[in-house]
Formats: sequence, structure tokens, C-alpha cells
Amino acid sequence: MSTDEPSVPIVCDECETETRVPLDDLADALEIHNAQKHDGEAVAEVDPAIKDRLADLVAEDLGLFDEDVTEQP
Ligand SMILES: [Zn+2]
Repeated sequence: MSTDEPSVPIVCDECETETRVPLDDLADALEIHNAQKHDGEAVAEVDPAIKDRLADLVAEDLGLFDEDVTEQP
């Protein structure tokens, strides 16, 4: 069910790097990068261009738009 795992680009202004990580690893990857490279400061972030799309992906993942859950009469 999770064969089509979305990957998310993380960008870091200070390192000038972009790294793609699976959505499941996103929080860890950000935390590890910032902890190791920036003393725990939140420098690296999800690519701003992707953030809106990511919100959609996460919302879909959570089933917020799943209309099949409406009650049957
Ligand atoms: Zn960095």
C-alpha cells in the first residue's frame, strides 16, 4: 500500500543543498541535518515551492478528502 511513497525536497540556505527524502523520514532528516550542521537551529526546511503540495499530500494521506466515510442513510 506504500509502494508509491512521495519524496520531499529539503533545502538548506546555509549549506546550499537540496536533498530528497521519503515523506516518512522528513521530520527525522530535518532534525538530524539541523542538529549536526547547525547546532539544532531550524535552518534546513521543506522546499517552499513544495510546501503547499505537501499539505495536499499529507491531507490525502490522512484521508481528509475521503468522501467514502460519509454516513449511509
Ligand atoms: Zn544545512
